[in-house]
Order: sequence, then C-alpha cells, then structure tokens
Amino acid sequence: MNTLSTAASANNTEFGGRMFVYEVVGLRQNQASDRANYSIRKSGSVFITVAYNRMNEEMRRIARLGGKILSIKPLVSPAEFIPQGSVLATETAPASSPEVPQEAPAKAPKKEKRDVPVNTYRPNKPFVGKCLSNEELVREGGEGTVRHLTFDLEGSDLHYLEGQSIGIIPDGEDKNGKPHKLRLYSIASTRHGDRGDDKTVSLCVRQLEYKDPKTGEKIQGVCSTFLCNLKPGDDLKITGPVGKEMLLPEDPESNVIMMATGTGIAPFRAYLWRMFKETHEDYKFKGKAWLFFGVAYTPNILYKEELEALQAEFPDQFRITYAISREQKNADGSKVYIQSRIAEHADEVWEWIQDEKTHTYICGLKGMEGGIDEGLSGAAGKFGITWSDYQKQLKKADRWHVETY
Ligand SMILES: Cc1cc2nc3c(=O)[nH]c(=O)nc-3n(C[C@H](O)[C@H](O)[C@H](O)COP(=O)(O)OP(=O)(O)OC[C@H]3O[C@@H](n4cnc5c(N)ncnc54)[C@H](O)[C@@H]3O)c2cc1C
Repeated sequence: MNTLSTAASANNTEFGGRMFVYEVVGLRQNQASDRANYSIRKSGSVFITVAYNRMNEEMRRIARLGGKILSIKPLVSPAEFIPQGSVLATETAPASSPEVPQEAPAKAPKKEKRDVPVNTYRPNKPFVGKCLSNEELVREGGEGTVRHLTFDLEGSDLHYLEGQSIGIIPDGEDKNGKPHKLRLYSIASTRHGDRGDDKTVSLCVRQLEYKDPKTGEKIQGVCSTFLCNLKPGDDLKITGPVGKEMLLPEDPESNVIMMATGTGIAPFRAYLWRMFKETHEDYKFKGKAWLFFGVAYTPNILYKEELEALQAEFPDQFRITYAISREQKNADGSKVYIQSRIAEHADEVWEWIQDEKTHTYICGLKGMEGGIDEGLSGAAGKFGITWSDYQKQLKKADRWHVETY
C-alpha cells in the first residue's frame, strides 16, 4: 500500500479536522497527476484521504485529472475502511491521531431528543376549531385555486413545530355512509401562528379538481373542496399534529435549501417566517436559506410578495430561484422545472450541500424527487461524484428531508 501526502494536515480548521476517504477511479497518468504525486494503478480504485476543508479543491483536482469519485466516506480507521491491496493517497496522520475522528460526520441532533408534540388530537376525538380567514393565493391569470386558511385553536392544547402537519376531517360522509377519513396538510405558519399569539394554525390548500379519465366528468376533491369553501366562523375538525421528517434544524447557524412545488411551499413559509420575520430570544437565524420554487405560471407563485419582501430585506441570507414551467424555457426549448435551475446553479448548490451545516428539504408534488435527483446527479457528476451514494450519506446524517404527496 502506498501512502502519499497530498496536503498538509496543518491546514486543518475545526472542520478540517474531519477526514474523508474518496474512492476514485480513472485518474489519468499525465504530467499534472505526476506532479500531484498520486500513485495510480492501471485498474481498480485509488483511495484518497482528504481533510474536510480541502474537499472541494480535491474534487476539482480529481475531475481535472479525469477521475470519477465513486464514494465519499468519513474516515473511521483506514484499516477497516480501505480494501486490502488498494492504493491509498493520504494526507492524514495515523488513525490513532487525536485529529482523526472516530465517528461519522456531524449529524443533526437526534429528532427523538426534541420535545416534538405528536397526536395531541386523534381522529376519534378531534379538536373542533374555527375558521378565522380564507384567502385566495392564486392571482389573476393563474391556474386553479389555492387558499391560505387560518384556524382558531383557542381552548385547545394543540401546539406544533414548523414542518409538522395537521389532519382535517371534512364534514359529511363517504359513499358508504361512513364519516370521511382525515387528510393531512402541512402547516404553513410558525409555532406562534400568523397572529403571533400561539393560538392559530394556517394551511395552504389547493383545491383538487380533475376530469374522471373514463367519464370526463369534473371531480372535486372531498377535503380540499371542503377547506377551500370554509367561511370565517365555520367549525372544522382538526387532528394532530404529526410528522418529524420536516422539522427545521434547531441550530440557528444551519443553512437550509428548500425545494418546493405548488403547495409544497407551506412548510417553507413557516421556516422563513421563523428565520426572518419573527424575533425570538432562543433562535436567531445566522445561516443562509435558498428557496427553489416551481410553479406553472407567475400568478401561481404563492406568497410571492411576502417572500420577495423577505428576500429584499435579507439579501445576504435569503435567496429565491423560481422555475416557472409554462412560461420559462431552457436553451433547448424545454420547460423550466426545478431541476433545470439546479443544473444552472450546479456548482453553488453542490458547494452548499457539502457543507455539513446544510439541510435540504423537498416538499410538494409526488414525483418531484426524480427531477431533483436528476439535477443533482448532474451537479455532483461535474465533480465526479455519484449522487445516489452521496445522497444516502446525507440521509444517514439527517440532512436530507422529503415530504411529497
Ligand atoms: C404529509 C402531507 C402533507 C400534505 N400537505 C398538503 C398541503 O400543504 N396542501 C395541499 O393542498 N395538500 C396537501 N396534502 C394532500 C392532501 O392530504 C390531500 O390528499 C389533498 O388535499 C386531496 O384530498 P381531497 O380530499 O381533496 O381529495 P380526494 O377526494 O381524497 O381525492 C383524491 C383522489 O382522487 C384521485 N385523483 C386525484 N387526481 C386525479 C387525477 N388527475 N386523475 C384521476 N384521479 C385522480 C386519486 O384517487 C386520489 O387519491 C398533503 C398530503 C400529505 C400526505
């Protein structure tokens, strides 16, 4: 086994203290690689140990040398990690060095440890709240109906966190004469509610409408129509809250990438209000936030004015990138979806994602993950990384969160 030095460990910062092993194939043997002093086998993988603070640089160098990174793993112990007979290029001290961590990259705090309220109200005993307001969010020229609804929770024990959902049981009965089942909706307000008094909850609901594929008859969704038709003062049955997948990281220094389609904006509205609009003693957001928002038409950009006002007020911390599929076109004439925007900003998105303080959230239409994976495969591929492997590590580290429906 060859052990070479590619960088000085003296460069390490507090993050640089973490070491990672890149499994690389296809490194060209040429003048540049010779200068880099890699030991390259004719076939098989090269394992390069890299300090956290040199990861981007090393990826670029590997890409320049024609290499493809098959995986990136935290260095636990070289003997355990690297297959026998493989070539190792390293910049590390021996595994026993205090600089080499024995654990995986820093994970977000375990969700179980948080005080997360769940199922305060169950379907057999829902809380009966009142509709306080019901406002249209789609502007003139847009497609369909999406409403911002606020409900009064006065007299209930219902408390929730940003990123959770509540259940709604619509009035009436199903075709078998039984009460309707509940439907879940992402909460669009912060834990303090739109009025800031901890006594309301808001939703962002699209009225489901489609044509029966057999009869052509127009069909309206039961619960979404019930909600969209509510008037101030009407009662409704609320259950929950539920969900731990989409909780906002507690660390105010986290970076947050949000990818939404349509009503998938709901939890992100809650995050952004908590980060930028409200003031808290115990949470002052110091990270960066980037919202990718996909809609069909400009008038379908939900909460547009409020989002852009926040962006104007916090230009160094909050960024919005729209993908407006029926209006914008890629250079090849195809429609612009979120993945097109990811591809366009591949280098930056990739840089954000690699930062261990970054959490990525996806919310909205089922199926949107496919396109996002495609976009990120391209972004990661530019640096010779296999996205699916990398994504698995992000999930393990609790930095990849998806809620689609
Ligand atoms: C965790 C979670 C969070 C959610 N958050 C939100 C949210 O924030 N906002 C929101 O608006 N929704 C949200 N939803 C979706 C919501 O729960 C309901 O599924 C949605 O409102 C439709 O319910 P409905 O009662 O109106 O429709 P239903 O009457 O239940 O009809 C739905 C059924 O209609 C059929 N159908 C639908 N479209 C078609 C079609 N094009 N062709 C043929 N058949 C079709 C399907 O069989 C489907 O199951 C969320 C779902 C989950 C699981």
